Amino acid sequence: MIISIASGKGGTGKTMVATNLALSIVRTGYALSIQVLDCDVEEPNAHIFLKPRMTESRPVYLPVPQVDFERCTYCGKCGEVCQFSAIAVIKKNVLTFPELCHGCGACSLLCPADAITEVDRQIGVLEIGQSNGVRFIHGILEISEAMSPPLIKAVKRAAHNSGITIIDVPPGTSCPVIEAVKGSDFCLLVTEPTPFGLNDLILAVEMLRILEIPFGVAVNRSDVGDNKVDDYCIKEDISILMKIPMDRDLAVAYSRGTPLVAAKPEWKGKFVRLLDDINRMV
Ligand code: SF4
Ligand code: SF4
Repeated sequence: MIISIASGKGGTGKTMVATNLALSIVRTGYALSIQVLDCDVEEPNAHIFLKPRMTESRPVYLPVPQVDFERCTYCGKCGEVCQFSAIAVIKKNVLTFPELCHGCGACSLLCPADAITEVDRQIGVLEIGQSNGVRFIHGILEISEAMSPPLIKAVKRAAHNSGITIIDVPPGTSCPVIEAVKGSDFCLLVTEPTPFGLNDLILAVEMLRILEIPFGVAVNRSDVGDNKVDDYCIKEDISILMKIPMDRDLAVAYSRGTPLVAAKPEWKGKFVRLLDDINRMV
């Protein structure tokens, strides 16, 4: 089963939920293998809580076009086919913009003069490790790199297909989020009871309904703010599966990179019940 932990906005505690869910269900007999994929490749931080021992590290590349000007006839086909303005033909010149290229290969495939070859451009690094029985994979995007979906794909490709996979999804509702959540059996949306939390929750709910992925909500810092998230969930018939109140001890543990279930072991049972609820909804 693949469970995505997402949120419409950053800073709601989705990494906290993802890592503590994994630590609570490992070695409980729920599945032979538990793995966490940190797909928040622009700012991965699940490793801070899981503290994995990394056993593998490899670069991730994106194939981008390189033009052979000896062969090029400046026909313009490559510029016409590119949906991302990553290659442009201007008079007797072909300009390429590797940082815009999605590596789809259309230009090299359709070049009538066979003048385009693909060369590798490194966009990040993939690391694989283990943490107390949890298999861990994350991607680290190169600084200033915008092309995160191919790295997210690489993280997901490195995952095993068995057991329970928990995906820490990037915040928001844009392409990297869709890349991370697609294929999930369930998505838990972590939010907070504030106007910003509600606004971004609504956007995330709309996205998941389009993707037809079953989902529920977890409310972090549930005792601050207002009741509008609760009211919205009742109106939309959305299950609130967990509420985590504001707790100074938890905040201190979080700031030190200590998992919630290590600081307060009584929370393990609540995360196990969360998995039971998700199982019932899938
Ligand atoms: S499609 Fe090929 S031949 Fe035509 S302009 Fe592009 S690189 Fe040159
Ligand atoms: S590989 Fe695809 S995205 Fe990249 S330049 Fe060619 S057509 Fe555009």
